[in-house]
Amino acid sequence: MDVTLAAGNIEAHYVRGIQEYFHKNNATVCLAHLKIAAQGSYDNGIYLYGMIMLCRGQEEEGKAMVEKLGWRQNPIRVDESWKNIKRSLHGITVTTLDSYLTAYETSMETINCHLEDINARCATCFYFKQITKFVFII
Ligand SMILES: [Zn+2]
Repeated sequence: MDVTLAAGNIEAHYVRGIQEYFHKNNATVCLAHLKIAAQGSYDNGIYLYGMIMLCRGQEEEGKAMVEKLGWRQNPIRVDESWKNIKRSLHGITVTTLDSYLTAYETSMETINCHLEDINARCATCFYFKQITKFVFII
């Protein structure tokens, strides 16, 4: 793994980021790795970095990252990334942090459309739906 990391393999940085965050509970090291993956235009890294930032209360930076996936034109890159991330997290116990619930509640307060359907997303409720999926790993 370390040889691959040294070679700058962006997917290796993404995998290392997941290990640091979900196994070792080390957000700082995780985000450093995910940032490298994101800067290498690796969609899964971009999306996971953005969602972790959003769910830890760094709303502006999180949204700026997720916006790079162009969901306003087409959500397919976001949806594919989320599918891949869920696969990467399979078998991992994900801790729901207090900050996640705060982010979830804060974003829900601004939404009064499509509340009943997680799959119905408009420009207003898109981030709320994505935060919900991340916080409850749907
Ligand atoms: Zn909506």
